Amino acid sequence: MRTLPEYETLAAAAHGHMCAGQILGLRMAIHGLNLLGIEEPEGKDRKRIVTFVEIDRCATDAIPVVTGCRLGKRALKFKDFGKVAATFVDLQTQRSVRVVALESSKQRAKELYPEISDKNQQQMKAYREMEPADLFAHQWVRVALGPEEFPGYKGARHICDECHEGINFERQVFRNGRTLCRACAGDRYYTAL
Ligand SMILES: [Zn+2]
Ligand SMILES: [Zn+2]
Repeated sequence: MRTLPEYETLAAAAHGHMCAGQILGLRMAIHGLNLLGIEEPEGKDRKRIVTFVEIDRCATDAIPVVTGCRLGKRALKFKDFGKVAATFVDLQTQRSVRVVALESSKQRAKELYPEISDKNQQQMKAYREMEPADLFAHQWVRVALGPEEFPGYKGARHICDECHEGINFERQVFRNGRTLCRACAGDRYYTAL
């Protein structure tokens, strides 16, 4: 793995700025990979990791900088839970660890650097230095990933009986004898004008 300053440079370029959330995301990913014993996410361990992120915030952009997991490669999965948490899945050992940022980390940053009035600066400095145990809690979990979750999945494409749009990766829903896409099954996030 790279050093934190190296990751910070890459993350700032990817995200558009450097911020406390980025540091937290980088450290979260480094911690997750350390717990799994994954040493070369850009080298020999390149295709070994799948990451689930639970928030779409600054920290989320930093995580793929370390893990190499990208949305378009299906190795980054977004669960919209609004939590600063991520689960790192090791496909090689079938072990998974979920890491969550502690609510107390902001308070801890304040205690460490009360003289820094700018919150972002205060947290950036603290989050670089704090021990993993002061930043995160983690739990070992099981994540069921079917073959349809991987990039090379060659399953059949389905057509929604309602909107007639194509559906990949077995995301169809069966209801009253019909095949529906998730939108037509009630999970629509838009309203037609
Ligand atoms: Zn940010
Ligand atoms: Zn549909």
